[in-house]
Amino acid sequence: MNKVFLRAYKEIFSDYKRLTIISILAGFFSAIAPLISIYFSQAILNEITSSRDINSVIGFIILSLIIVFVSQVVGGLFSYLFTHEVSNVIKQLELKRNLKMTKMEFQYAEDPDIKEMRRRLTIIGFGGSPTIERLIYDMRGILFNVTTIIISILILIPIFTTKSNSVYDSPYFFVAFIVLLIIFTVLPSIVSQKQNKKITEMFHEINHANSLFNYVSNILFKAEPHKEVRLYNQKEKISKSLDSVRSSDSPLNKMLYNMLKVFGTIQYTVLVASMVLLLCLYLFLGLKVMHGNLGIGYIVSGGAALTLLINVMPQFIEKLTMMFSSSAGLEYHYEYIDLPNQTQIGSIPVEKRLDNNYALSVKDLSFMYPKTDKVVLKDINIDFEVGKVYAIVGENGSGKTTFIKLLTRLYDPQNGEVLLNGISADKYDSQQYFSLFYVVFQDFDLFSFKLGETVAAASDVDIERVIEIFKEVGFYERYQQLEKGLDTSLNTEFDKNGISLSGGEKQKLAIARALYNNGSIFILDEPTAALDPISEFEIYQQFNEMTQGKTSLIISHRLSSCRFSDEILVFDEGRIVQQGSHDTLVNQEGKYQELWTAQAQYYQDENIDTDLLGI
Ligand code: ADP
Repeated sequence: MNKVFLRAYKEIFSDYKRLTIISILAGFFSAIAPLISIYFSQAILNEITSSRDINSVIGFIILSLIIVFVSQVVGGLFSYLFTHEVSNVIKQLELKRNLKMTKMEFQYAEDPDIKEMRRRLTIIGFGGSPTIERLIYDMRGILFNVTTIIISILILIPIFTTKSNSVYDSPYFFVAFIVLLIIFTVLPSIVSQKQNKKITEMFHEINHANSLFNYVSNILFKAEPHKEVRLYNQKEKISKSLDSVRSSDSPLNKMLYNMLKVFGTIQYTVLVASMVLLLCLYLFLGLKVMHGNLGIGYIVSGGAALTLLINVMPQFIEKLTMMFSSSAGLEYHYEYIDLPNQTQIGSIPVEKRLDNNYALSVKDLSFMYPKTDKVVLKDINIDFEVGKVYAIVGENGSGKTTFIKLLTRLYDPQNGEVLLNGISADKYDSQQYFSLFYVVFQDFDLFSFKLGETVAAASDVDIERVIEIFKEVGFYERYQQLEKGLDTSLNTEFDKNGISLSGGEKQKLAIARALYNNGSIFILDEPTAALDPISEFEIYQQFNEMTQGKTSLIISHRLSSCRFSDEILVFDEGRIVQQGSHDTLVNQEGKYQELWTAQAQYYQDENIDTDLLGI
């Protein structure tokens, strides 16, 4: 057996013991009920035709009814438990894969190849290659098959081994029968295994078609993209994309067509072959019974046991051969699960300081994103003074967000270092280092939980603190309109009475979340882009008061907000090209003046009260 299969089974047996036991019992009990019926039918018929003892016939009938009833009830119970347990385990597996995203090195979580790999795992059922889910589903089936095969053979053996001198008791019949049975059941399995191999070879092509199909279906499923779909008349483009997957010459459909063709032929051949085998067995049994070498009951049990064998053997062999054939599905799973986790390189604890005296500095920092050759940050040097508010400005793509990712250690620089109180940031315990920062990213996410939980980022919510912060970020009025207050759900995914917030309201909440959690270093990356200028002005005023004594970094495109900062860092093509206060920089020829003039011009054109904005 392939190594990766062994690993998967080992994991299933050790992590999901309950499921393993239930699968064995469910498979065994579902198999024995029909076999017991067969055995007792044979015994009852033999009894009627031989001793004709009415008491033992009645005894057999009652015993058979009781055993069949009990095994069916127990089998049904375990099958129910199996279905329940499987759905639990499948959810756990899915959770494990999702949690992996949070544990892996951050660079992988952002990598489009890894995202594709993760997406692939949700659609991997195709391609004839088993997944862990498939192995779990099959456990009961394998046990069912093994039990049926063993007991059917036990029922069939006496048919060939009655002791008499008749020609029908020749062991050659038994050997011939077994050989024919194996040929008729193994042959189709070998062919289907070959077919599976072919399908696996096409797997990558199919995968692409599946990803496209899922992506497009997802667009149609979600509510938000429908604005763009309608306004940009994307219906035609979407239909074409779906057609390319759906059309008869798409790889997916070609594969399905080939699969159906080959499997159809195999099934047809198996059916004809098994009918021939069954006919031979009935002929053999009839002759044996007619010559008085066998009880008449064996005609019933022999035929039924053989029919069961013919049905079950190919399924069993197919499951076995699957384990020796392609392991692509499992390999994809483990390739993803084995991606390196965020390494805990440092171990120094971050000193707890009530005075928030955490001095950040950056020395000779340069950085390129993995798998790219563009230097995004070049020779950055800066010492942040504790308690100051820094504004970071620069054109799109000048490296501002990347700089934040490096400061917070989401990425490690190729050159240079980030220092906290003079010690290289990577020497610190990473979790403790992370918890110094409260960051509102440009593309922040507010999950669809309750309002209070979202702001507290926890289940325990300090209601008074949340309300105080709502007042400060300008969300209090909106909050007062909510019937369920902090228990109001955000969005309507899980609660049809949830609220849909505007972009500006969401930003206020994201800022509230950062303030509630009382970090020591605040970073706001374009936090107010969706706010109107007046709300922005108010937020910055409050923000300055609330973050007194703590270092804050604010990336903003609205240069008016720089008025609130003590110092401005101007980024251009990955370098800090200017540094100083607004008053100094605005009067200095350079990037800042250029950006400022362009923006002031806009506000004047728009006739906005520039006094209020400080322009
Ligand atoms: P800014 O915040 O100033 O707009 P960014 O730091 O987001 O700029 O981006 C700087 C450069 O790095 C851009 O050229 C951008 O395309 C590139 N970049 C940003 N994120 C990634 C990423 N995850 N992988 C590769 N390149 C990236």
